[in-house]
Amino acid sequence: MQKSMIRKVLVANRGEIAIRVMRSCREMNIRSVAVFSEADRASYHVRYADEAYCIGPAPSVQSYLNKEKIIQVALETGCDAVHPGYGFLSENADFARMVKEAGLIFIGPSPEAIEQMGDKITARKRMIAAGVPVVPGTTEAITNDEEALRIIRQIELPVMIKASAGGGGKGMRLVHHENEIESSLRAARSEAKAAFGDDAVYIEKYISSPHHIEFQILGDHHGNIVHLFERECSVQRRHQKVVEETPSPNLTPEVREAMGKHAVAAAAAVNYFGAGTIEFIMDDQHNYYFLEMNTRLQVEHPITERVVGVDLVKLQIQIAEGKPLPFRQEDLRQNGHAIECRIYAEDPANNFMPSPGKIKHITEPLGLGVRHDGYVYPGYEIPMYYDPMISKLIVWGTNREEAIARMRRALYAYKISGVSTSIPFLEKVMQHPVFIKGNYNTHFIDTYLKELLEVSECDGLCEDVAVITAFIHYLDELGRVQNGAHDGKVAIRESRWKQMGKSLNLRRN
Ligand code: ADP
Repeated sequence: MQKSMIRKVLVANRGEIAIRVMRSCREMNIRSVAVFSEADRASYHVRYADEAYCIGPAPSVQSYLNKEKIIQVALETGCDAVHPGYGFLSENADFARMVKEAGLIFIGPSPEAIEQMGDKITARKRMIAAGVPVVPGTTEAITNDEEALRIIRQIELPVMIKASAGGGGKGMRLVHHENEIESSLRAARSEAKAAFGDDAVYIEKYISSPHHIEFQILGDHHGNIVHLFERECSVQRRHQKVVEETPSPNLTPEVREAMGKHAVAAAAAVNYFGAGTIEFIMDDQHNYYFLEMNTRLQVEHPITERVVGVDLVKLQIQIAEGKPLPFRQEDLRQNGHAIECRIYAEDPANNFMPSPGKIKHITEPLGLGVRHDGYVYPGYEIPMYYDPMISKLIVWGTNREEAIARMRRALYAYKISGVSTSIPFLEKVMQHPVFIKGNYNTHFIDTYLKELLEVSECDGLCEDVAVITAFIHYLDELGRVQNGAHDGKVAIRESRWKQMGKSLNLRRN
């Protein structure tokens, strides 16, 4: 592959990940071009970019999924590369191919690798051929109920019926009893057809007490592939990750090494280059199986960045430029512990209903070991058209205990008003004895949901106090000015903040 310098990148995405990519571009002296929908005019990614162009109405199909329009903007603005972020077109082989055919660099893997890994049935076959363990199940699409019944009797209930084109937990059904097979097959098929335009489904053994463990992969155009260790993503709701951490509290060094080798073999099987993730499901006996490969940057990539000490976006760009990986497997180490919490504009108490609306006030958590990747600001109206994730809170500590304490401190300091958020729920997760012990699995949220949703006496009060104290602060400031503080004479009296604290004798649990 010829080396080519990237000077200007179009970021085909929105929100926090668009800004995340642009930050690395800025550090590398690369200009960034944002695209946005009519609903996103005020989005911070539009302000952050060097240039920004509207590509259509709010619905994604007319804007962020409009391949031709995006490529047209890239060409007209003199970009030499396109970064797809995650979601939207990031795992769309046609888009990667069209970008290439337009003479631009796609900052990601080859269209062939996306195709082979994007179809889960094809990926399972590839992995079996490469000697990577896959979840016991079918290697062909299931076409009728009798066939399904025969296979399910072979591999034994419970099983998962999964969409071959699946993603985001869609088109997936857990089957416990034979009499559910017919309805589950029908439901999985129609959900898959609606979400992906492809109703092919397959059957997998349901792994009980499962852990979701994934390995970060990087490959270059010179045949080098390394893994950057694992992420434990078992705190999930409806098969979607909520909290991620690295290192996993559930791996031994031996299992980690074996999984890492299988992850590299999985990527090598499709001649992978770029950043990618090999997802495994692991039971509590440390038996692990390939689930799928995500051929893009993951939402949770920052925890790997922090513990391994790399900038994954910068490496993606350097790989796309044709540069070799700057390290070998034996150079990489895990240093300390990192945790990420996904912050959603949603109401956990109301069945996690999305809570779009206007952000009135936001206090971002700061301090040692805290990273906040977000895109909202006071006055910003969260559109209802897109994923309700508003930011990612990432902390690092020298060990897991310190990282948990730091996450609690950061969540405590994180204040958003105007919309409901998952912050109080995440605080409960960080305080839960099972999470603290570390031996949780993907059933954690469902099992302890009631406790995690409990509102402690102080919760509502503390929110109210935040508003009241802000108002008192305002009154204090007003008083200081009226008392002549602008002349250098500050009125000396006990702060109303202190008075308030004394009178309420507040204590958060
Ligand atoms: P998607 O691509 O839709 O995200 P995945 O195959 O990655 O689907 O699975 C998402 C989650 O569903 C996993 O992290 C795990 O919690 C659960 N899951 C998937 N397959 C199985 C299985 N065979 N046994 C147990 N849990 C599973």
